Amino acid sequence: MNLSTGQGIDFHRLEKGLDLWLGGILIPSEKGCVAHSDGDVLLHAICDAMFGAAALGDLGQHFPDTSNEFKGIDSKILLKRTYELIKGKGFSVVNIDSTICLEKPKIAGYIEDMRSVISGILETVPENISVKATTTEKLGFTGREEGIIALASVLLRK
Ligand SMILES: [Zn+2]
Repeated sequence: MNLSTGQGIDFHRLEKGLDLWLGGILIPSEKGCVAHSDGDVLLHAICDAMFGAAALGDLGQHFPDTSNEFKGIDSKILLKRTYELIKGKGFSVVNIDSTICLEKPKIAGYIEDMRSVISGILETVPENISVKATTTEKLGFTGREEGIIALASVLLRK
Protein backbone atom coordinates (compact mmCIF):
# COMPACT_ATOMS: atom_id res chain seq x y z
CA MET A 1 0.00 0.00 0.00
CA ASN A 2 1.32 3.42 -0.97
CA LEU A 3 0.73 5.89 1.87
CA SER A 4 1.46 9.59 1.92
CA THR A 5 1.13 12.06 4.78
CA GLY A 6 0.61 15.82 4.67
CA GLN A 7 0.16 18.70 7.10
CA GLY A 8 -1.63 22.00 6.76
CA ILE A 9 -2.06 25.16 8.79
CA ASP A 10 -4.24 28.23 8.29
CA PHE A 11 -4.87 31.51 10.11
CA HIS A 12 -7.59 34.12 9.81
CA ARG A 13 -8.25 37.39 11.52
CA LEU A 14 -11.57 37.69 13.42
CA GLU A 15 -13.83 40.72 13.15
CA LYS A 16 -17.24 41.60 14.53
CA GLY A 17 -20.25 41.23 12.30
CA LEU A 18 -18.84 38.55 9.96
CA ASP A 19 -20.04 34.96 9.57
CA LEU A 20 -18.01 32.24 11.29
CA TRP A 21 -17.74 29.17 9.06
CA LEU A 22 -15.87 26.21 10.53
CA GLY A 23 -15.68 22.76 8.99
CA GLY A 24 -18.44 23.69 6.56
CA ILE A 25 -20.84 24.70 9.36
CA LEU A 26 -22.11 28.21 10.13
CA ILE A 27 -21.44 28.74 13.85
CA PRO A 28 -23.37 31.40 15.82
CA SER A 29 -20.70 33.90 16.85
CA GLU A 30 -20.17 37.59 17.51
CA LYS A 31 -17.08 37.51 15.27
CA GLY A 32 -16.23 35.84 11.97
CA CYS A 33 -13.18 35.40 9.76
CA VAL A 34 -11.82 38.13 7.50
CA ALA A 35 -11.06 36.38 4.21
CA HIS A 36 -11.29 36.46 0.44
CA SER A 37 -13.39 33.27 0.61
CA ASP A 38 -15.89 32.40 3.37
CA GLY A 39 -12.82 32.10 5.67
CA ASP A 40 -13.34 28.50 6.76
CA VAL A 41 -9.97 28.09 8.45
CA LEU A 42 -10.47 24.36 9.14
CA LEU A 43 -11.35 23.44 5.56
CA HIS A 44 -8.41 25.53 4.32
CA ALA A 45 -5.98 23.67 6.61
CA ILE A 46 -7.41 20.34 5.43
CA CYS A 47 -7.08 21.34 1.74
CA ASP A 48 -3.49 22.41 2.37
CA ALA A 49 -2.68 19.10 4.08
CA MET A 50 -4.22 17.18 1.17
CA PHE A 51 -2.18 19.15 -1.35
CA GLY A 52 0.88 18.53 0.82
CA ALA A 53 0.34 14.77 1.01
CA ALA A 54 0.00 14.62 -2.78
CA ALA A 55 2.95 17.06 -3.24
CA LEU A 56 0.71 19.27 -5.37
CA GLY A 57 1.70 22.65 -3.93
CA ASP A 58 -0.52 24.64 -1.60
CA LEU A 59 -3.97 26.16 -1.28
CA GLY A 60 -2.90 29.65 -2.37
CA GLN A 61 -1.43 28.32 -5.61
CA HIS A 62 -4.59 26.46 -6.56
CA PHE A 63 -7.11 29.03 -5.32
CA PRO A 64 -5.40 32.46 -5.40
CA ASP A 65 -6.97 35.13 -3.16
CA THR A 66 -6.46 37.62 -5.98
CA SER A 67 -8.92 35.78 -8.21
CA ASN A 68 -12.53 36.99 -8.44
CA GLU A 69 -13.54 33.38 -9.03
CA PHE A 70 -12.89 32.65 -5.34
CA LYS A 71 -14.34 35.83 -3.83
CA GLY A 72 -16.72 34.86 -1.03
CA ILE A 73 -16.61 31.24 -2.20
CA ASP A 74 -18.00 28.46 0.00
CA SER A 75 -14.90 26.58 1.16
CA LYS A 76 -16.79 23.29 0.79
CA ILE A 77 -16.40 23.89 -2.96
CA LEU A 78 -12.64 24.38 -2.45
CA LEU A 79 -12.47 21.12 -0.47
CA LYS A 80 -14.40 19.29 -3.18
CA ARG A 81 -12.10 20.64 -5.88
CA THR A 82 -9.03 19.71 -3.84
CA TYR A 83 -10.38 16.21 -3.39
CA GLU A 84 -11.09 15.90 -7.11
CA LEU A 85 -7.52 16.96 -7.90
CA ILE A 86 -5.93 14.39 -5.57
CA LYS A 87 -8.44 11.74 -6.66
CA GLY A 88 -7.38 12.42 -10.25
CA LYS A 89 -3.84 11.52 -9.18
CA GLY A 90 -5.07 8.20 -7.78
CA PHE A 91 -5.29 9.17 -4.09
CA SER A 92 -8.02 8.52 -1.54
CA VAL A 93 -8.27 9.68 2.08
CA VAL A 94 -7.30 7.23 4.84
CA ASN A 95 -7.86 9.63 7.75
CA ILE A 96 -7.65 13.24 8.83
CA ASP A 97 -6.84 14.68 12.23
CA SER A 98 -7.29 18.38 12.89
CA THR A 99 -7.32 20.99 15.65
CA ILE A 100 -8.98 24.39 15.76
CA CYS A 101 -7.48 26.93 18.21
CA LEU A 102 -9.90 29.62 19.30
CA GLU A 103 -11.06 31.29 22.48
CA LYS A 104 -14.76 31.76 21.63
CA PRO A 105 -17.37 30.49 20.91
CA LYS A 106 -17.42 26.92 22.24
CA ILE A 107 -17.68 24.64 19.22
CA ALA A 108 -17.88 21.17 20.79
CA GLY A 109 -21.56 20.94 19.88
CA TYR A 110 -20.82 21.42 16.15
CA ILE A 111 -17.99 18.94 15.72
CA GLU A 112 -20.18 15.96 14.75
CA ASP A 113 -21.79 18.04 11.99
CA MET A 114 -18.35 19.13 10.74
CA ARG A 115 -17.14 15.50 10.60
CA SER A 116 -20.25 14.52 8.70
CA VAL A 117 -19.91 17.35 6.13
CA ILE A 118 -16.18 16.75 5.60
CA SER A 119 -16.47 12.98 5.30
CA GLY A 120 -19.34 13.37 2.82
CA ILE A 121 -17.24 15.57 0.53
CA LEU A 122 -14.21 13.27 0.82
CA GLU A 123 -16.22 10.07 0.13
CA THR A 124 -15.31 8.49 3.45
CA VAL A 125 -16.98 7.97 6.85
CA PRO A 126 -17.03 10.38 9.83
CA GLU A 127 -14.96 7.83 11.83
CA ASN A 128 -12.00 8.72 9.59
CA ILE A 129 -12.31 12.46 10.26
CA SER A 130 -11.16 13.84 13.59
CA VAL A 131 -11.86 17.46 14.57
CA LYS A 132 -10.59 18.76 17.89
CA ALA A 133 -10.77 22.17 19.50
CA THR A 134 -8.64 23.95 22.04
CA THR A 135 -8.14 27.42 23.45
CA THR A 136 -4.67 28.90 23.84
CA GLU A 137 -5.33 29.68 27.52
CA LYS A 138 -5.96 33.36 26.67
CA LEU A 139 -2.42 33.63 25.27
CA GLY A 140 -1.51 35.38 22.03
CA PHE A 141 -3.80 36.60 19.24
CA THR A 142 -6.13 33.62 19.56
CA GLY A 143 -6.41 34.25 23.31
CA ARG A 144 -7.28 37.91 22.63
CA GLU A 145 -9.97 36.73 20.16
CA GLU A 146 -8.21 38.54 17.32
CA GLY A 147 -7.73 35.43 15.23
CA ILE A 148 -8.19 31.75 14.75
CA ILE A 149 -5.82 28.92 13.79
CA ALA A 150 -6.47 25.49 12.33
CA LEU A 151 -4.03 22.63 11.89
CA ALA A 152 -4.64 19.44 9.95
CA SER A 153 -2.80 16.28 9.09
CA VAL A 154 -3.96 13.93 6.38
CA LEU A 155 -3.03 10.42 5.37
CA LEU A 156 -3.67 9.53 1.74
CA ARG A 157 -3.53 6.13 0.05
CA LYS A 158 -2.59 5.64 -3.58
ZN1 LIG B 1 -7.78 30.39 4.95
